[in-house]
Amino acid sequence: MQNIAIFGATGSIGGSTLDVLSHYKDRYQVFALTANSRVEELVRLCESHHPRIALVADESKKDELAFALKSRGLSDIEVWAGESDLVRLAALPEVDVAVLAIVGAAGLAPTFSAARAGKRLLLANKESVVCGGALLMKSIKEHGAELLPVDSEHNAIFQCLTSASDEDRKNARLILTASGGPFRKRMDLTEVTPEDAVAHPTWNMGRKISVDSATLMNKGLEVIEASWLFGFPPDRIDVVIHPQSLIHSMVQYADGCILAQMGAPDMRTPIAYSLGWPERLDGFAKRVDFAALGSVTFEAPDIQRFPQLGYAYEALRMGGAASIVLNAANEIAVEAFLDRRIRFLDIARACRHMMDTMVLAAPKSLPEVLAADREARIKTREVIAQW
Ligand code: NAD
Ligand code: MG
Repeated sequence: MQNIAIFGATGSIGGSTLDVLSHYKDRYQVFALTANSRVEELVRLCESHHPRIALVADESKKDELAFALKSRGLSDIEVWAGESDLVRLAALPEVDVAVLAIVGAAGLAPTFSAARAGKRLLLANKESVVCGGALLMKSIKEHGAELLPVDSEHNAIFQCLTSASDEDRKNARLILTASGGPFRKRMDLTEVTPEDAVAHPTWNMGRKISVDSATLMNKGLEVIEASWLFGFPPDRIDVVIHPQSLIHSMVQYADGCILAQMGAPDMRTPIAYSLGWPERLDGFAKRVDFAALGSVTFEAPDIQRFPQLGYAYEALRMGGAASIVLNAANEIAVEAFLDRRIRFLDIARACRHMMDTMVLAAPKSLPEVLAADREARIKTREVIAQW
């Protein structure tokens, strides 16, 4: 029996993970569930999954959580709260697997903590790879942690690289696929509303990543993520638009052979793969009916309309803290767009502005990463407030 702690249990990835786990109750136990502030939602999950620990990141909600659990007859569930408890939970000896499904840079501290404690990390939180970069990869290696990428593209590449020698890898190219998001065919993006932006054509996801998919920032973050996870430089990572989301990504080897990983667009598949690895769990996701599928298509991404994809390559080449600045600017701008304080195209404008004006040295430790992230957030908020 393995104990699973889900960081960000109330989110889209959290929910998919709980669904997978409910099919394998003989192998995995839901040990801990965390949420940011939605106590009601967390308590509902506690009722159906009965973890040992429930954690609310917003410390001011601790009493509310304790009271709600008690009133539902769940006072045997331990109540934890705050960021320091998130870090403590990720390193707890009883935890075998940490599912890192918090959205944004808030996921950094628990991800690093799980890495330092040598856990198996099921990593959905791409922002922690984008910001943590070399430091995170080093920590994983040094502490014997196992990183299984849950992001579907990286999970696909992980699968396509399994039989590759070091030499094969050196000459290979990664090809990340992208659905193209909801605005693939929309030429004028000036009037885009938050409702338009979160309506993704093939994937059902949280609001922030849905907006990132609409700007192609998501693919940009994934290029940076792939570079760190697999040790590929930006000039050996390509992006191709593939609207049907059947192929989740590919590896092209020097001999011209291309390995692709396919499946229905359902996050439960990469989650189940990462849980079971190196075994494959019996599937329950929808089978692909190729005959019914008809055609699958590919096209080049439009960098003019979606410049943030280009910014990600630029940040990767710039090094230093450029990826942290880009990620922070994007997070703050997406939040402002969802609150209707700025327009859709201002998200890219904020990212461009921050990359042009804030150049920080490469951080040497997690506190330095967090400090760079904080500084970039403050500056982005100031800039946006003046628009
Ligand atoms: P979501 O918005 O649905 O859920 C986010 C979760 O994080 C919630 O449980 C929320 O309570 C928690 N959270 C938010 N802010 C927090 C904070 N400051 N402190 C602690 N907890 C906080 O997001 P999601 O779509 O599930 O995405 C989660 C992560 O997985 C993101 O990094 C995203 O890029 C990545 N991802 C998601 C998908 C997908 O299909 N949804 C696919 C690939 C990668
Ligand atoms: Mg992805």
